[in-house]
Amino acid sequence: MKNLKLYIPDEQIYRFPLEKYFELKRIKSSKITTRRGQQLKLQSCIFCGKDEHFFIHLRTKLFICHSCNNAGNLGDLISILEETESHSFIKRLVRNKGFYREYRNPDKINIKEVIEQEKSEMEEEVKPIDPPEYFTLLNKANEYLRSRGISDEDVRFYKMGFCFAGRYAKRIIIPIIENGKWYGFVGRISRDRREGEDPKEFKKKKFRNTKDAPFANLLFNIEEASKHNEVVITESVLDSVSVGRDGTCTFGKKISDYQIRKLLDYNVRSILLLWDSDAREDMVKTIPKLRFFFKVRALFLKEGDPNSNRENLRKMMKKDSESFIVSRYEKILNRLN
Ligand SMILES: [Zn+2]
Repeated sequence: MKNLKLYIPDEQIYRFPLEKYFELKRIKSSKITTRRGQQLKLQSCIFCGKDEHFFIHLRTKLFICHSCNNAGNLGDLISILEETESHSFIKRLVRNKGFYREYRNPDKINIKEVIEQEKSEMEEEVKPIDPPEYFTLLNKANEYLRSRGISDEDVRFYKMGFCFAGRYAKRIIIPIIENGKWYGFVGRISRDRREGEDPKEFKKKKFRNTKDAPFANLLFNIEEASKHNEVVITESVLDSVSVGRDGTCTFGKKISDYQIRKLLDYNVRSILLLWDSDAREDMVKTIPKLRFFFKVRALFLKEGDPNSNRENLRKMMKKDSESFIVSRYEKILNRLN
């Protein structure tokens, strides 16, 4: 169950008012003193229901049931107790790891549905693909890329290329690579819209991406981005490149369960959500889901996208944008105060 929990900042774990929280949840507990320090004993275990076997250390907030052996930390505990309000994803994810097997209300979960959902997700598993025909690596940024603020170094770092002929002729190809293998690519027309050119027509031909890749399951540049303290999530590859090496992208105004799982697999803990200015509502919808697993900041752009804001982007990103968000954890704390 590593990482599969509500994110609570370490420095807040000790301060969390556990007794008050149980009172609010109408869970009966009593304080006892052991040689390891003060502990709370719950009347019954939240997993197996057995009486007098569930203990939580008051300082560390680590819990264990000496009957069913379920154990964990504060994030695990709150995630489970808040389960009725939680997003179905955490139920599925946690259940998949066997964590819910002993849960005392298994009737609440439609197991058949869960299995079907898991199966359909597995079928979308990503597979390596080949680069397109006539693909050549670029060594420096062409005029279009330079106009979007992309440097020669960026071009080489992200292994961008160009197709001189074929289905992707005259397109800049930006691969999505993991472990040295291609899992997809974006093929963008190498120019901006010409004056007088129909915007709708241009939009149609702007991108021609590989048909073989499930984009909802891919994250651009995730290997490199995950090495940074905070991963910046944008909508498109060019936005991601404009952000910097800590940027990744979701290929749209949505993040899939698969993409979340991938972020967890790469041990990502902190996220800055940075979609386009017209994605405000999508961001507001997505943030609570992300808050289960990551520390989340969000930057709501007033206009355009990260690329069109690139000159002031880093400055804007530095500002603490967390005030925009009432996190799930903060909500729980507010209820307690
Ligand atoms: Zn138990």
